[in-house]
Amino acid sequence: MSAKVLDGKSVALRIRSEISERVATFRERTGVAPCLAAVLVGDDPASQVYVRNKEIACSKAGMASRLFRLGAATTTEELLSLLDQLNADPQIHGILVQLPLPPQIDQRRVLDRVLPGKDVDAFSPENVGLISQGRPRYLPCTPHGVLQLLHRSGIPLTGAEVVVVGRSDIVGKPLVSMCLQKQGPGGESNANATVTCCHSQTKNLGEVTRRADILIVAIGRARAVSGDMIKPGAVVIDVGINRDGDELVGDVDYPSASQVASAITPVPGGIGPLTIAMLLENTLAAAEFAVRAEL
Ligand code: NAP
Repeated sequence: MSAKVLDGKSVALRIRSEISERVATFRERTGVAPCLAAVLVGDDPASQVYVRNKEIACSKAGMASRLFRLGAATTTEELLSLLDQLNADPQIHGILVQLPLPPQIDQRRVLDRVLPGKDVDAFSPENVGLISQGRPRYLPCTPHGVLQLLHRSGIPLTGAEVVVVGRSDIVGKPLVSMCLQKQGPGGESNANATVTCCHSQTKNLGEVTRRADILIVAIGRARAVSGDMIKPGAVVIDVGINRDGDELVGDVDYPSASQVASAITPVPGGIGPLTIAMLLENTLAAAEFAVRAEL
């Protein structure tokens, strides 16, 4: 079997074009341009590229963005003080703190400081709680991208056995929570799965992953999941992005997995582009909330 390639890039382009149209309508109606503030601390080259890509995406969607660069020696208090300013600025609708932060910064305190209404990454305890209760304000960008790709590729989650490998607060845990809900994002019925979550202490990982109808891998280990760990005909979503020399590779061993799976995401060109698209969605939603609150 040679798996169908789930082309995240083209799905992301479609979503971005839908968002651009909604932004144009919103601007026409309100005179307000949705604005994302990105905070970049230090000089990590990958983070600089990610932030730049987010700025470009905002501009192409008709949104404003502002970049706040802080030096690598920034303290937690300095970063908190900037966030207080951004929280209070009515012209900024969404705030994104690019991770990872330098080691001297207390990441928890920083992420907790972003006002939940401006927390377009959906990391704050309030937003995480709302997701887990099935009444999200924002959905975290990468997990939402995964669900959008499945939904728009006509792959239903209802009743499916979903195995998520990885339990990070950014990807694995919210995915588990979202796949478990009775209703998917935007009211679609793409949820209602039977969900198992694996991590570094899971025994016999291959035995668990081979149960999956839909296998989602987010562990940050290059090519760690091979074809023999996949049930024939399963759908495989590879969230991982790992640098291997000059190459970017996923957490799934694509050559062996694509011989067994019925559908699979490539790396690059799979989930990565969807993450940015869903950030735009949240920034527009944040601007809509802000305008509604002013009425
Ligand atoms: P993370 O915070 O490092 O978490 C990794 C998770 O994987 C942990 O729960 C860890 O288990 C588990 N794990 C590690 N090795 C394992 C193994 N051999 N078997 C089973 N579980 C294992 O990573 P993350 O932030 O979720 O990111 C995961 C990957 O996704 C990375 O490659 C990252 O670059 C990529 N990513 C991509 C996007 C995108 O836009 N496409 C966005 C975010 C992340 P423990 O909890 O037991 O330690």
